[in-house]
Amino acid sequence: MIVDYHMHLRNERCGIDHTVGAVEPFVERARERGVDEIGFTEHVYYFEQTRSFWPWPYYIERCHFDLDTYVDAVVEAKRRGMPVKLGLEVDWAGERADELAEVLAPYPWDFLLGSVHMVDDHAIDNGPGLWAELPEDEVWQRYVETLSAAARSGHFDVLSHPDLAKIYGVRGSDEQYRELADAVDESGVALEISTAGLRKPVAELYPDARLLQLSSAPVTFASDAHEPVLVGEDFEGAVAFARANGRDTVSVFDGRVRRQEPLG
Ligand SMILES: [Zn+2]
Ligand SMILES: [Zn+2]
Repeated sequence: MIVDYHMHLRNERCGIDHTVGAVEPFVERARERGVDEIGFTEHVYYFEQTRSFWPWPYYIERCHFDLDTYVDAVVEAKRRGMPVKLGLEVDWAGERADELAEVLAPYPWDFLLGSVHMVDDHAIDNGPGLWAELPEDEVWQRYVETLSAAARSGHFDVLSHPDLAKIYGVRGSDEQYRELADAVDESGVALEISTAGLRKPVAELYPDARLLQLSSAPVTFASDAHEPVLVGEDFEGAVAFARANGRDTVSVFDGRVRRQEPLG
């Protein structure tokens, strides 16, 4: 089995389009690429229901969409027999994470991605930001602590792009990867192997092989596609990478219950 459990529901012009019609080209691309199941994971901060959680203008400006409309589109696609799952890419909301989890609880999620983009009020993946303010090792340490807290919260099923901080080619230390691996293993959260990093300055998969070697977490696969053409992008290499690092199964989620299926 091959899954792509990270993508954003957009139309062919890359516009936000939370409709069943927009789901279809993603399903079609998955079929062409031999991906058995896809999961939609819109950013949590695109929804007006979460507006009060974000202190950052970039997020607040995007809280225009209705969470029910998004959920209904994916649920309807499932009802029509498309091989899709309902997910959400949920930013770590720090001390308000429990409150955010309550807002999300009534919806029929198959899985929730835990995601850290913001560290100390700066986007880690939009430089120079924090990289201009702190030593590189300190930025990495803050990122690891924030993502570890997200893992340990128990609110998430999978950690997305779990070493996003290497986006510009600055890598974490072995100790930092070990700290993250310990948090992951204690929490039972799965890790995503994301091909999005190949399209970023670092030009590598997320995460570094060290994280997979230090942790025993199960894995999913992720393109982080923001357009249908990228579904399943570079998955051959991602699957080989998973196998090379001791994974021969993939996590599949239904209603936030995980099971392991043979990989491939
Ligand atoms: Zn992300
Ligand atoms: Zn994403």
